[in-house]
Amino acid sequence: MAHDHDHHDHDHHHEGSELSDVALRVRALETVLTQKGLVDPAALDMIVDTYETKVGPRNGARVVARAWIDPAFKARLLEDGAKAIGELGYGGRGGEHIAVVENTSAVHNMVVCTLCSCYPWPVLGLPPVWYKSAPYRSRAVIDPRGVLKDFGVTLSDDVEIRVWDSTSEMRYLVLPMRPGGTEDWDEEKLADLVTRDSMIGVSQPLAPGART
Ligand code: FE
Repeated sequence: MAHDHDHHDHDHHHEGSELSDVALRVRALETVLTQKGLVDPAALDMIVDTYETKVGPRNGARVVARAWIDPAFKARLLEDGAKAIGELGYGGRGGEHIAVVENTSAVHNMVVCTLCSCYPWPVLGLPPVWYKSAPYRSRAVIDPRGVLKDFGVTLSDDVEIRVWDSTSEMRYLVLPMRPGGTEDWDEEKLADLVTRDSMIGVSQPLAPGART
């Protein structure tokens, strides 16, 4: 038991220090490039934002949309997330073990990493700043309903909220509920409704008509 605990902590520490090392190098590089007038910091922020909100999560959105239209794929996805995600060509570091958890009218799933910032990179890209913040990491466990409310999601009291605590050995992707009124939609159109936050479980997918 004690051994398992040490092992778990170690894995988290390992990933955390590795990321902060990368962050330090990036910061140093950014400073040098900015001082030399080679890079506009605002442009860099825009690139990071693109990876956080568009490039990465688009992979996850395709996975979700496929699951919505293909019941056999969905079954494989819930059985072994990483393996089914691999069928769409997504995988690699941070995607070795991904569990996909399905939202239903009775259960809402939400993902956190209480110790650091473990995140399913191949399907969601870079984690948003709030995901790595201490308030989210602690409150997601203590008061998930309150956190959801802050994100603008109000669930009825009879919906059970399940909070999944990620580690470097198991990361989670939420399969949100397919919005109503999309019965004849194709996969690509459906994927446009799937937001990053809905796959972390702090938001619902967009309603049809929210994007044109
Ligand atoms: Fe972590």
